[in-house]
This record gives sequence, structure tokens and C-alpha cells, in this order.
Amino acid sequence: MKTVIQKLGVFQENNLWMKREDLIPFSFGGNKARKAQLFFKEIDNGNYDCVVTYGSGSSNHCRIVANECCRRKMNCYIISPEEASKLTFNSQMMELFGAKITTVPVAEVHDTIENKLGELRMAGKQPYFIEGGGHGNIGTEAYVQCYQEVSEYEEIEGIHFDYIFFATGTGTTHAGLVCGQLLNGDERKIVGISIARRNPRGRKVVLDSIRAYLRNNSNMSITEDSIQSATVFIDDYTDGYGKDDNRVTDAIEAVLRNYGVPLDATYTGKAFWGMEQYLIKENIKGKNILFIHTGGTPLFFDYLKGKEI
Ligand SMILES: *Cc1c(COP(=O)(O)O)cnc(C)c1O
Repeated sequence: MKTVIQKLGVFQENNLWMKREDLIPFSFGGNKARKAQLFFKEIDNGNYDCVVTYGSGSSNHCRIVANECCRRKMNCYIISPEEASKLTFNSQMMELFGAKITTVPVAEVHDTIENKLGELRMAGKQPYFIEGGGHGNIGTEAYVQCYQEVSEYEEIEGIHFDYIFFATGTGTTHAGLVCGQLLNGDERKIVGISIARRNPRGRKVVLDSIRAYLRNNSNMSITEDSIQSATVFIDDYTDGYGKDDNRVTDAIEAVLRNYGVPLDATYTGKAFWGMEQYLIKENIKGKNILFIHTGGTPLFFDYLKGKEI
């Protein structure tokens, strides 16, 4: 299912476009919805009767997986770190979908997952395990497909995007876009704006995902050099939100006022603000820029709600 690419406006003499992954028509969309489509294709084709995954109380991934399970009347087991299990619109929806949530200290998440899988198998169940954030080759594949949509759009519209920006977290969105570029041999700059992880670790996780995907999905010889130069992981904009720091929230409100598009304070708001700062800092002008809106709309409402208190 293709998502819309819309022209937003002009920023520093650059034409700015946005690909609306947030409008994928299931459970408020977003990149986790695109990844979940592929995970659940595998689940539907296999002999599975429940799903185990993990994530925080504000996880878009957990909301969507819980919703996909709910519509199939499958049990969904979510292991959640108690350090990040505050009440949010996403956690409320997970409850609404009947997810079975186990909250443990973050240091116990790994063992709790193993125990849950063992327990279910002992009881004769066939659990399907999805890594947090939809990590792994299937998650990467989802964004190779997204890249393909971007290429098709360019061909149809006779346009070329010089830059693609987006929020990068667990890294498979980033990895998929870079793999798409490498497989197509396209010239452009793909810039992941990190929302939390720092270099070198954050970039290394993306590189590992790229190599793992290409090992399984390509017989082209893509050199390590080209993988390295295609992977741009910017960790300068992981802050910008909090007490006395309104840089991200100012960007969120400006984008809503000017373009009518909701961004959130954890992912897309940071990435959009980071993109603007990057374009200013690098003095980039006269280019076609595509921002991929990776979703997280319920977090926009958490932000709004937080504002009134
Ligand atoms: C998870 C998420 C991301 C990051 O995607 P990764 O593939 O984990 O890097 C970006 N934006 C939103 C809204 C997300 O929910």
C-alpha cells in the first residue's frame, strides 16, 4: 500500500516534501505499521497462535502489534521495562486491545522474554517473537519497499530527491532506505536523525542491519566502502525537548500551524527540527528534500495533553 508524498513548502530555498507513513490506514499508521504488515504476513502463513514482543509504554510498535493480534483474536504478550512504563495513549490502546503486559526492571527484560517463550511452548503454544521496534530483516525489507515507492514516485513525477531525512531509532527504517539506495545504485544523501542513540554505537547497529539484509537478499556485490559512505547517522539532535528547552516543541507547533501535520516530541519532531538545523549548518540550498513522516500520532496527543498540565 503506497503512502502519499506531498509538497510541504520551501525551507531555506529548498523544496520540501513529506512522505506520509503516518497515514498508513491501520492503527494510526507509522513505520511500525509498515513493518507489522510484513511480520503478520509471515504469522498468517505460519502455524502461530500468539505473539511475544517488547517495548515501552509509549511504544508505537507495541500498540500496532497488539492491534494486529487483537483483530486476529490472538494473544499478544508484551514485556515492558518498568522504567519506561508510564500511562500514554499507546499504553491505553494496548490495554484496549487486550495485550498481556508484563512489566519488569529493564535488566530483566531479556530473561523474561526467554521465560515467556519457554512457558508458552511448554503449554503447547506456537509463539511468534518480534523484536522491539520490529527490528530484523523483515523490518528492513519494509523500508526497502518504502524506498521503492519513493523511486517510483520520482519516475512518475520526473523529480529527484537530493536528500531524504527521517527519525532513526532501532535502525531498520534507516537500514531499509540505505539498502534500497544501494540496490538501485542511486545518487542521493540519506540522512538519519538519531532520536536517542549516539555514535558510534547507533550507526553500527544500522550498518549491522544493512549487512545482514544484503547477505540474505542480494547477490550483487556491494562494497563495504559504499555501505559506509551511504550510512549517515546524525546524533547532534537527540535533545531539544524538556524543561526550559522548547526547540523541538516550537518545531512541532510550527509544522502543525503551517502545514497541518502533527509531529511528536520523541521521534518526528526531533527529526524535523534536526533536519532544519542540518540544512542550515551545512548551508544546503536549492535542493529537493524529502522528509519521511514515520508516524507516532498518539504521541502527538501525549504532547498536547502534557502541555495543558
Ligand atoms: C520506531 C519509530 C521510529 C524509529 O524507527 P526505527 O526503525 O526503530 O529506527 C521513528 N519514528 C517513529 C514515530 C517511530 O515509532
